[in-house]
Amino acid sequence: MPNKKPTKVRTRFAPSPTGDPHIGSIWTALFNWLYAKHHHGNFILRIEDTDQTRLRPGAENKIIEALRWFQINYDEGPDIGGPYGPYRQSERLILYKDYADRLVTSEDAYYCFCAPERLQKLRLEQEKTKKPVGYDGHCRSLNAQESFKRVQSGELSIIRLKIPKIGETTVNDLIRGRVHFKNAVIDDQVLLKSDGWPTYHLASVVDDHLMNIDPVIRAEEWLPSTPKQLIMYKALGWTPPRFAHLPLILGRDRSKLSKRHGSTDILKFRDDGYLPGAIINYLALLGWNPKTSKEFFTREELIDKFDLNTVNKSGAIFDNQKLDWFNAHYLKSLPTLEIIRLAKPYLEQVGAKNLTDNQLEQISLLVAERAKKFSEVPDIVGFLFRQPDYEAKLLNWKTTNPAVTLQKLKRLIKLLESCPESDFSETNLEDIIKTVINEEKLGVGETLWPLRVALTGLKESPGPFITASILGKTKTLSRITQAIKKLS
Ligand code: GLU
Repeated sequence: MPNKKPTKVRTRFAPSPTGDPHIGSIWTALFNWLYAKHHHGNFILRIEDTDQTRLRPGAENKIIEALRWFQINYDEGPDIGGPYGPYRQSERLILYKDYADRLVTSEDAYYCFCAPERLQKLRLEQEKTKKPVGYDGHCRSLNAQESFKRVQSGELSIIRLKIPKIGETTVNDLIRGRVHFKNAVIDDQVLLKSDGWPTYHLASVVDDHLMNIDPVIRAEEWLPSTPKQLIMYKALGWTPPRFAHLPLILGRDRSKLSKRHGSTDILKFRDDGYLPGAIINYLALLGWNPKTSKEFFTREELIDKFDLNTVNKSGAIFDNQKLDWFNAHYLKSLPTLEIIRLAKPYLEQVGAKNLTDNQLEQISLLVAERAKKFSEVPDIVGFLFRQPDYEAKLLNWKTTNPAVTLQKLKRLIKLLESCPESDFSETNLEDIIKTVINEEKLGVGETLWPLRVALTGLKESPGPFITASILGKTKTLSRITQAIKKLS
C-alpha cells in the first residue's frame, strides 16, 4: 500500500468503554480536540471495544454524553458516522484479521499454539525466578507452512508479532523528544486472539493508519506500547503517525489520580453543578503552559493558543480547590437568568416553590456571591425555605443582655409592620432600618445581629436586608415574632 501522509490534521480520542469517563480521559480528548481545531483539522471519536471481557454496558453512551456536555464536538464518530467508519472496533474485525494474516505471510508475525496453561506456568516461573515476564518464543521458529497446516486443521492458535531480537526502536515523541527502547526486552505481542478478536495493539495501529490519524495524542501509559506499534507500521510498510504522550494527572500527594483522591467521574462533576467551560479552562491549563499569566480563556482562545510544544513532560497535579476557584469565577460571570435556570433543580431540593421573578433574581445574587458550584445552592439559600431552628442565646450580639436584644427586636417589628410590602426591597429596608438605628442610637451590631439570626437561624448567613427582602413582609415578621417568643 502506498504511504500517503494526511494533508489535514486528524486526531482521535479512542476510549475503551470499560467504565465511567473520568478526568484523565476527558483531558486526553480535550488536548486532541484543541490540537485538531487549532490546525483546522478533524477530531474523531473511536470506540475501542475489543476487550469484550471488560466492557461496561452504557459506558459508550456516557462517553458521548460527557463529550457533548463539554461541547468537545467530534467530526466523525460511532453515532454520527463519517468517511472512515465504522468507528467502533467491534464492527471492524474483518480488517484486523486481514492485516494479521498479512503479517504472518510476510513472516513478521507467527502462529502460536501455546495453551493458556503453559503460558501461565511460564509466567509463574518467571515471577518466581525474578526474570522479566514475557513470552519465551516457544512457537517463534516453527516452520511457517507447518503452522499454517495446523491452523487449517482447526488447531487453536493466536498470532504474535515477531519483534526483532537485536537493535532498538526509537519513538520520536512530540512532547518527550527521542525515547529509545531495546528490542530485546520487548515481548512478542499478541496481535490476534484465538477467537479472532484483535488486541488493542493491532486494532489501534490498523485504525490509526486507515483513519489517517496524525498525530496520535494519548496518555503517557501508552508510551511503552509505541515501539511495538512502530515495528508493526514498519512491517506493514506504512509511515507511522507522529506521537505525543501526555503526562499523567496526579493527585495532590503526587500519586496517579484515582478514586482515592475523590471522585474522578466527569459526569459527577456535572451533577455537582460545575460548569463545563470552567472545567475545560482548568483542564487546559493543567500540564499545558500558555506562556502568559492570563488564567481565563474562552474555548476559542484555547483553540487559538494551544500548542503541544508547551505541554509539560512531568505529571500535572489535579487540584479540586483550584477547579472550584475557576468554577466560582465562571459562575459569577453568568447572566442572572442562566444562574436561575441552573440553580432551579437545587432550589427544588429545598422545597422552594412559586418564587417571584424578584425573589429569583435576589437568590441569584446570593448564589453568584457565595457559591463555588451549584450543588452548594441548598446550603446557601436553604434557610429561606425552612423554619429557623436555633438556640435563643445565639440572638445576642457578643455579650449583650437578652433583655436588650428583646428591645431591639421589638423596635424592629414595630418599624417593619408599618413598612408596606411593596417597600420590602433590599435597599429600602437597609435605608429605613439604618436610619432608625442611627436616630435612636440602637447600636449596629446589637440590632442587626439578632435580626439576621431571627431571619436565618444561622451563625453565618447572607445579610439581613436581602434576606428580609426575599422572605417578604409576612415571613420576616413571623420570624422576628418567633425570635421574640424565644427570648421572652
Ligand atoms: N483504548 C485506549 C484507552 O482507552 C486508547 C489508547 C490509545 O489512545 O492509543 O486508553
